[in-house]
Amino acid sequence: MIKDNLLSVLSELPEQVRLVAVSKFHPNEAILEAYEAGQRIFGESKVQEMTQKYESLPKDIEWHFIGHLQTNKIKYMAPYVSMIHGIDSYKLLAEVDKQAAKVNRIIPCLLQIHIAQEETKFGFSFDECKEMLSAGEWKSLKNIRISGLMGMATNTDSIEQINKEFCSLNNYFKDLKQIYFTDNTEFKELSMGMSHDYHQAIKQGSTLVRVGSKIFGERNY
Ligand SMILES: *Cc1c(COP(=O)(O)O)cnc(C)c1O
Repeated sequence: MIKDNLLSVLSELPEQVRLVAVSKFHPNEAILEAYEAGQRIFGESKVQEMTQKYESLPKDIEWHFIGHLQTNKIKYMAPYVSMIHGIDSYKLLAEVDKQAAKVNRIIPCLLQIHIAQEETKFGFSFDECKEMLSAGEWKSLKNIRISGLMGMATNTDSIEQINKEFCSLNNYFKDLKQIYFTDNTEFKELSMGMSHDYHQAIKQGSTLVRVGSKIFGERNY
């Protein structure tokens, strides 16, 4: 079942798009089923849950943290996390850098941009993000790498609205690349698209889709 769902999602992804299988709230057995079908990138939104899974599951899994980040939890994932998607302040970026330095790693990070209409979704505004990048302090952080952007569209049935939001994020991404990352080939990821909107996200240039319920079924919180 999980295997079939996974293979069906994978079959729809163009070559340049990678899948983050969002396994939050699902048990190790479910993750192993996807792992055995070849999946290696998994996404989690709670540090404690992710760390427990990391400790008990195969070590070639790449763990992506996609949740809202708290400064005091970063140290627990710094030794192993492959990518952090939800950076929405300079303070968090600096803290990730500090914890990564302690374990002698460089952690790829995505800046989360608020593109949805809901107030509840986290992220920088377009202006705030540019201000942070213009200030330039981030350039002195040697143990993080800004690898791209992440965004979540409004939870709506309006395909037009979703397309508009993803498109605006892609334009902003290209804009930032030209201004701040001209000689940096590592700024290349655009993390957008979930179970209900990943088709639109791919059309608008996503390179990483974060798909959970379509693969693992509904979550029991
Ligand atoms: C839970 C979650 C997902 C996956 O959502 P589905 O609708 O189950 O695909 C993707 N991105 C983020 C940030 C999430 O928290």
